[in-house]
Amino acid sequence: MKRSSADYRVAVVPVRLNGASYTAAHQACHRAAGLWNHTLATLRTRWDEVKTDPTTKELRHLAAASDPDLQRLHAHTKQAIVDDLLDAVATSRANRGAGTRAPWREKNYRPLSFTKGYGWRITGDGRLNLSLGRNLPGIRLALPAVTDSRTNHGVPAADWGEIRLCWDRDGRSWSLHISHRTAATPVLDPANIIAIDPGIINPMTIAVETPDAYEITVINGRAARAIKHRRNNAVADLHRLMSRCTKGSRQWRRYNQAAKHARAHANSSLRNIDHQVSRKAADIAITHNAGTIAVGDVRGIEKNTAKAEKRRFGKDQRRRLSQWSRGRQDHYLAHKTGSKPTYTNESHSSKTCPACLTRNAPSGRDYRCHHCGFTCHRDAVGALNILMRATHGKYTPIDPDKTIRVLYLRATPLRAALSKARNRATPRTGCVAENTVSHAAAAGPRAPAGEHSVAA
Ligand SMILES: [Zn+2]
Repeated sequence: MKRSSADYRVAVVPVRLNGASYTAAHQACHRAAGLWNHTLATLRTRWDEVKTDPTTKELRHLAAASDPDLQRLHAHTKQAIVDDLLDAVATSRANRGAGTRAPWREKNYRPLSFTKGYGWRITGDGRLNLSLGRNLPGIRLALPAVTDSRTNHGVPAADWGEIRLCWDRDGRSWSLHISHRTAATPVLDPANIIAIDPGIINPMTIAVETPDAYEITVINGRAARAIKHRRNNAVADLHRLMSRCTKGSRQWRRYNQAAKHARAHANSSLRNIDHQVSRKAADIAITHNAGTIAVGDVRGIEKNTAKAEKRRFGKDQRRRLSQWSRGRQDHYLAHKTGSKPTYTNESHSSKTCPACLTRNAPSGRDYRCHHCGFTCHRDAVGALNILMRATHGKYTPIDPDKTIRVLYLRATPLRAALSKARNRATPRTGCVAENTVSHAAAAGPRAPAGEHSVAA
């Protein structure tokens, strides 16, 4: 396995600030916005008066002449404001044809940037210090755990670059955006294939062929379903309450804020779960050096939920389809493996018997072929068929001499308690094994060992 060259990523790490730091950070963000507004106003006045651009140095002087309170920021933060403003002007000019105008909007809030070595540093007792300027107390935090989402390994502070402290208005929470060097993307052999059957109940079922077996990994989506369910209920309740208030009233705004909060929290949990699911699939691809990732093509199902599928699916099923984050999982998977998924036609993949290609309507958790007697966990069938189609160009019977091994995994929700423990050493993402069943065991009393792929 070869490795390509390194690049940079930004890790988003949620943090909790204590009372004094929380207030100081909010004030600094407002101050930074105030200084931006002041500098912008000065720049516009100058344009009106002398019709020329100031140099960076002149603009810094103009910025420094603001209200002394706005100057109570770190020197680098002030410098970044001037630089960003000049960048914004340059960008707007480059895009003038597209109707972009020069910066004009007043900001209420601006994230704070901290440069390596000056803005942020590790203190003697191993904490992270974010400097808010000379003679002002900085923000002290426990050293955050940064995980490279490409490899799932921790990134030491020595490899961090600039850090931004950002306030999420909807989630009402702080996070650090830490840029860091990331490991190179693995380069996998496209001759080796893994197949992925995407689904709503199990977000991914992964199949790979080894010399003696078909290895199937089923990732359970229970945690994601619970999060979506809770969010949908909370938001629906709030919307019901909002419908009884005057739109825009104080109470209405309070409910609206709460709904945004619920959505923001659910989003961050779901993002974490999508990382876990794609991590697992990526690990399998890397273990088997499989550079071809064949994903059952269900694109478009989401789009059709409103019209054509209306009669096929009930209301709840349609909602599940429209809230399916399959696209994001594929995107994460491509990032982690360096291989873009190829989409394989998956029609009848869950009905076709992998042993004799007869179509059966599966019922319950087990798949049973009425023609040849093949039995297997229903979840494995789709992935097996997609694997065979991706390998041979069409559905092809599986090798009867190979066993089918099914491993069940579940993605775990991100909880405050867990994340606290994780902040020490363990990686942020990973799946927990539920149980493993080899085929014979899974088939239970209905199919004795060995019968799974033999024509009856
Ligand atoms: Zn069959």
